[in-house]
Amino acid sequence: MADEPVSMVDASLRATILSSLRKLNQDFGISILYITHDLTTAYQICENILIMYAGSVVEAGSVEQVIRNPKHPYTQLLVSSMPLPDKSKRWGGVEFEEIQLRKSSGCKFAPRCPAAMQECWSQRPSFYLPDDGRTVACFLYKDQPTLASPDVSQVFPT
Ligand code: SF4
Repeated sequence: MADEPVSMVDASLRATILSSLRKLNQDFGISILYITHDLTTAYQICENILIMYAGSVVEAGSVEQVIRNPKHPYTQLLVSSMPLPDKSKRWGGVEFEEIQLRKSSGCKFAPRCPAAMQECWSQRPSFYLPDDGRTVACFLYKDQPTLASPDVSQVFPT
């Protein structure tokens, strides 16, 4: 388990640590549970990813699908805040939603969600399957099939 292993280190040491973790996985077949707030390094090192909000999984799947095409409004917010190495793109332009003080007994993200609907405040969303290899806990995808059990790892490619 690697819990924020590069959060307080400089760029060169960060690259060395990430390279060592990748080597452990590829050369010795050791599985690594990489815990981070940094989606950039998660994208570099992980095959599969779980996005959590307030202690609950909101989206899970292959790192390519989840980070390149996020479906859950919280994942979309996280990805939109990732710095991009593109000089034409400047900081700013992302509108952060106003947090509502109303408490939700349904979806935990409802007070911050720009897409919250009436049902979100009183019901917990199931895990829906908007595409292969990914599941999302959000009523925006309620017309899609649901996951058979709460074990979200079943969507990960084997
Ligand atoms: S279930 Fe509703 S409040 Fe929760 S993330 Fe989806 S749209 Fe937003």
